[in-house]
Amino acid sequence: MSQTPSVGFVSLGCPKATVDSERILTRLRAEGYAISADYEGADLVVVNTCGFIDAAVEESLDAIGEALAENGRVIVTGCLGVRDDVVLGAHPQVLDVTGPHATEQVMQSIHRHLPKPHDPFVDLVPPQGIRLTPEHYAYLKISEGCNHRCSFCIIPSMRGDLVSRPIGEVLREAEKLVEAGVREVLVISQDTSAYGVDLKYRTGFWGGRPIKTRLHELCEALGSMGVWVRLHYVYPYPSVDALIPLMAEGKLLPYLDVPFQHASPRILKAMKRPASSENVLERIRRWRQICPEIAIRSTFITGFPGETDEDFEALLSFLEQARLDRVGAFAYSPVEGASANQLPDPVPAELAEERRQRLLEFQEDISTQRLEARIGRRCMVVIDEVDEDGAYGRSAGEAPEIDGMVIVPDAAGIEVGQMLEVRITDCDVHDLYAERVG
Ligand code: SF4
Repeated sequence: MSQTPSVGFVSLGCPKATVDSERILTRLRAEGYAISADYEGADLVVVNTCGFIDAAVEESLDAIGEALAENGRVIVTGCLGVRDDVVLGAHPQVLDVTGPHATEQVMQSIHRHLPKPHDPFVDLVPPQGIRLTPEHYAYLKISEGCNHRCSFCIIPSMRGDLVSRPIGEVLREAEKLVEAGVREVLVISQDTSAYGVDLKYRTGFWGGRPIKTRLHELCEALGSMGVWVRLHYVYPYPSVDALIPLMAEGKLLPYLDVPFQHASPRILKAMKRPASSENVLERIRRWRQICPEIAIRSTFITGFPGETDEDFEALLSFLEQARLDRVGAFAYSPVEGASANQLPDPVPAELAEERRQRLLEFQEDISTQRLEARIGRRCMVVIDEVDEDGAYGRSAGEAPEIDGMVIVPDAAGIEVGQMLEVRITDCDVHDLYAERVG
């Protein structure tokens, strides 16, 4: 064993899992462990897994297998950890298995298998903790779990009911991130619009002032910090309407990530989706009236059990009218433990995939037209990456990793993390091209 006990870390899954990884890494550094960049240098490896769909389960099991082959001492955590029979069935030599957001249990397990150093280098830990994202943006997790029971989803059985973090704690974390140089805060959770419902919007304190644990108040406070604030996983509840003026006023980025999943009322009902009875098209129209530049991204599932040709056509017709900016689509595949598996009339996998591709092709024109409408306009971008071919940034309309980019071919003097004013000159299906102004 090396002098300073060293832990390797493999982080899989969604931004919520990334935040869990960051918490564990922060604790490890706080206690004086070293973080190894490779398997050989590590005395033990933690694998933070994803178990959302079967492909993610495979990927997680492969990652565990690789860590075992390369290092031999492996602790498993994250969503797949809820199914410890699956993990231990495939890899019985794993040292310990815990579920998601289980920082304490993971730390206890690490202490058992790799005792902590006597002299913690507490001062080596930056106050904002350790992050896996670039320095200029960070995810801010505001709650865990979910009160809904969408029939295709096993997240509530893995992560439990909604538990909102106290607003004072969330805002202090955001302040530390901003002090550390973060320029864009991405608000995440399973159901962002429900923030505070479980706490009955209890009054908390921030900077000595009372403030309600509610999304609107949270957004206003974040909006006063002088950084970009982007909302993910928002459902189209009536309460969301009140956030749109904050976007129009520049306090929040004019961007909403709303996972609609379908548009046919029959299928939405079978999916048990929240807010499915709302008149979504009318709501989108009003949002655009209040804030014309709002970018809306969404995801959809094709081939859900019982989906007929008419349901699918209803979905395409919704897309035609909604004219969303960015769309992702998944072909339905059964997830072990989801109640949708029991629904009648399963759609053959090939048909589900065919519909997924048709949907994406259908949307391609709409997304391209939405991007084309931006040619000639000026906007601010934040730069994520620079290489010899140009600088790659994002405007208010693009979230990291899931949306396209704004590419500035002439990158001379541009640095990662820089905010820059550009003029959009061209676009393709996903990305925009731009030149610097001023
Ligand atoms: S809203 Fe539905 S899909 Fe999202 S986490 Fe909750 S149950 Fe799952």
